[in-house]
Amino acid sequence: MSYDSNNIFARILRGEIPCKKICEDDYSLAFFDINPKAPVHALVIPKGAYTSYEDFAANASDAEITGFYRAVGKVAKQLEVTNEGFRIIINSGVNGGQEVPHYHIHILGGHSLGPMLSHKS
Ligand code: 5GP
Repeated sequence: MSYDSNNIFARILRGEIPCKKICEDDYSLAFFDINPKAPVHALVIPKGAYTSYEDFAANASDAEITGFYRAVGKVAKQLEVTNEGFRIIINSGVNGGQEVPHYHIHILGGHSLGPMLSHKS
């Protein structure tokens, strides 16, 4: 899938659409999800143009990958969810339920999130 430079997170990165910013550094931007699924629901996105987890993992530089994942840890700490616990979700592609085609990590916390998934075969 080629990168759509008009996806909503690309527009947030360019400042064309506002967001409730948590923090930002050279490699990442963190902001609150517009439709929170938990008392704390943040999104962390890399600044580079990567469509998905697998695109980022395969094509981002070592500096981008390190910088991004260190930022995710810092955001969780800043949001004060690390003591009680939290969940990271990465949706990828159609089966994964990815809506926005710019790689991102969800950080969810603030109460017990229950079991991860249920499955009926
Ligand atoms: P995905 O399903 O792609 O993993 O998650 C996309 C997330 O982006 C959803 O949780 C959705 O609520 C959030 N989202 C979509 N549009 C916006 C927006 O304009 N601003 C913010 N802050 N979050 C958004």
